[in-house]
Amino acid sequence: MISIRGKSYNLGIPIICRLTCSSLECTNKKEDFLYTHNASEINNNSYAGFILNSKDNVHLQTLAPVFQYCSDEIHFNEGDILFIEPRGKITKLYDPLSFTNSIFLTERCNCHCIMCPQPPKAHDEFDWVEFAIQSIKLMNPCTECIGITGGEPTLEWSGLLKVIETCSTYLPSTQIQLLTNARVLKDHIKAKELAEIGGGNLFVSIPLYSDVDSIHDKICGSKGVFWDCIEGIYNLERYGVDIELRTVIIKDNYRRMTQFAEFIYRNIPFVGNVAFMAMEPIGIALKNIKRLWIDPVDYMSQLSGAIKILWRRDMGVSIFNHQLCTLPQELWPLAKKSISDWKIVYFDECENCKEKESCGGFFFSAEKYRSRAISPIR
Ligand code: SF4
Ligand code: SF4
Repeated sequence: MISIRGKSYNLGIPIICRLTCSSLECTNKKEDFLYTHNASEINNNSYAGFILNSKDNVHLQTLAPVFQYCSDEIHFNEGDILFIEPRGKITKLYDPLSFTNSIFLTERCNCHCIMCPQPPKAHDEFDWVEFAIQSIKLMNPCTECIGITGGEPTLEWSGLLKVIETCSTYLPSTQIQLLTNARVLKDHIKAKELAEIGGGNLFVSIPLYSDVDSIHDKICGSKGVFWDCIEGIYNLERYGVDIELRTVIIKDNYRRMTQFAEFIYRNIPFVGNVAFMAMEPIGIALKNIKRLWIDPVDYMSQLSGAIKILWRRDMGVSIFNHQLCTLPQELWPLAKKSISDWKIVYFDECENCKEKESCGGFFFSAEKYRSRAISPIR
């Protein structure tokens, strides 16, 4: 999700809307919102609303909602879904051209991870579930994949089920990727409910950071998370849900990467994929950066060893958030372009790199925390 500040006029309540820019006819659907660069079009209050580039003049004669923004900060596409607040904040919830769209369900969480990119809050400011349901109804039915995230989405249990049900109705062929720490799913009745409602479109991504319970619990900032998570994983498997494990590599867990891989193979070999990830240096992760961050070059032997253990045994493996020049070439086929489009940046070194197209780049927050191995591939 990306947000900008602007000015809004005649907007009494927050709205969720789908942006249409080419056809005025679309505006008679009340859920659509007209995007225009032509301020002279604002003369008919039957339109659902307008979004203006800041270079345009606003004609306040209209009663329709008008939002004015600074054009350099955000790029709009037809079919975008926006959340617009009366106080002038605009958040892009969905971009039909992106492959990394997510639905946000709650800011609350039952963990306090030491590298959480988005610090959880005690209470939600908005009814995110309702926003999610409205957004799904406006999405392109051909959307390939949609993520469900938080906070911890399973804390909004009935809302989560409603959201998945709405996806099944409005996006019947879309893959649904639920990102959860799986603690709540140690309750096998809930795991069963989730499996039944998600059907074949659902797969669940679960963070697991170590083969040692105390290391995982320390990273998650809460006791008992490891065993809750393992129970959740077994319950999902019992009810036939596809599972992906995700592990972020930091100073606390890199030394045991090969033991971790062996643990997965011995105890949870049914998972469809294991993703090894570099940390996103933002939020709590940035606050704790000195004690967490390790240059990928310094854990490459452990990472390669772990990957070989899983790969040679025919398990699915991926590498997320790593730049190609930090990896040995034999691992490149496993490196995915995993960073959300709106967070990706490339730095000066990348300009002359022949692999730039295939490289997933950096988080925009990673400027100060770049590997010493970054250099153009020629
Ligand atoms: S990283 Fe995920 S599980 Fe951990 S505190 Fe943040 S939202 Fe919760
Ligand atoms: S130089 Fe830049 S584009 Fe090339 S591999 Fe490294 S990070 Fe990627």
